[in-house]
Amino acid sequence: MEELEEMEEIRLGFENPQEIPWYEKYMLAACVKCGRCTDSCPANIIGRPLSPKDVVNGLKSSILGSEYRLEDEVVWSCVSCGACFSSCPKYISPFTFLMERRRFLVAEGRIDKKMGELLNSLRRYKNALSVPQRGRLSWLESDEEPDYYLWVGCQYSFDPLGKKVVNKLVDLLRGAGLKIATLGEMETCCGEPARRLGEEGMFQEFALTNAELFKELGVKKLIVLCPHGLTVFRNEYKRVIKDFDVEIISHVELLAKLVREGKLKVKSVEGLTFHDPCNLARFNGIVEEPRVILRKAGFVEMKRHGIDTFCCGAGGANYWYQVGEGTMSKERVKEALSMGISKMVVACPFCYAMLNDAAKGMNLEKFEVLELTELLDL
Ligand code: SF4
Ligand code: SF4
Repeated sequence: MEELEEMEEIRLGFENPQEIPWYEKYMLAACVKCGRCTDSCPANIIGRPLSPKDVVNGLKSSILGSEYRLEDEVVWSCVSCGACFSSCPKYISPFTFLMERRRFLVAEGRIDKKMGELLNSLRRYKNALSVPQRGRLSWLESDEEPDYYLWVGCQYSFDPLGKKVVNKLVDLLRGAGLKIATLGEMETCCGEPARRLGEEGMFQEFALTNAELFKELGVKKLIVLCPHGLTVFRNEYKRVIKDFDVEIISHVELLAKLVREGKLKVKSVEGLTFHDPCNLARFNGIVEEPRVILRKAGFVEMKRHGIDTFCCGAGGANYWYQVGEGTMSKERVKEALSMGISKMVVACPFCYAMLNDAAKGMNLEKFEVLELTELLDL
């Protein structure tokens, strides 16, 4: 297994499908063309030109000598939601091939203006929002000798709505007896947008810099508020940094634990549903923990929930280059409305932004998007 991970580290995508390594060619060969990946692919559902089944079989046929061209617009249609590999009976991950192809496209400079702007922001400002780092998180005080450090994430660090969520979370954690510190303006990007866009070198730089910082500050336990950051910190840093041993905890996991221990109370709210973030449910298997809170609040499941959730459309760096498109998030809001629900709880800063924007774009003044913390009290 370690050998496979090392091989993955040094590869920077493929131009010709023949360059795909042998173990991934086996993956392609296993496809039985059932089409479950395409049926569950949100990009395909909203009409983008992406069918994961066709990608897998196109690559396979190309390796066997047939003509196949993997178009750039197909590759950029992916929102890296993981629905394809989660639904595949043969454990094939079409997503992996699309991400590898992105690495090749980025290396070739085949990116559009918005993708270029995202990379420039990450390079220049060390965050994804083109905002100077100076004063980042200055609005949040840190405790001495903290039990946990908190990784806020770019989106909530700079967004006024996000500040409200973060302040509420910190009040809850402190009220439950925990000491919390942030990294202040030393917190940069986790590297996830760079990796999902295909800028692997930049991702690895962020990973190395952040791991060094954690060592210097003695960070042993890190609460991560953004599920995208959670995925890279928990699952992907280890592939770049062998001795990365920081305990990574989702804020949802910690809140559920505190509710179970009776240290936090759950408010009862009428007419709620929950939108599972892809990075929480599929990439980290965190499905039960939010429901510890939601069941007490009273909620109705979305038709597509848990690991069968439907992406808000922000993943795979789409948040930055599909600005204003919003078709996926509107599809999700419509799903809630079809159930007679107008309050949707989220646990991800990107879902929060996308679904709020969708509701506004649909002129739904009474549709509310709530963060999980808003259901809790001391
Ligand atoms: S990761 Fe999501 S958007 Fe990308 S191919 Fe798979 S199902 Fe489609
Ligand atoms: S779900 Fe898996 S086996 Fe079925 S078509 Fe997609 S890749 Fe092939």
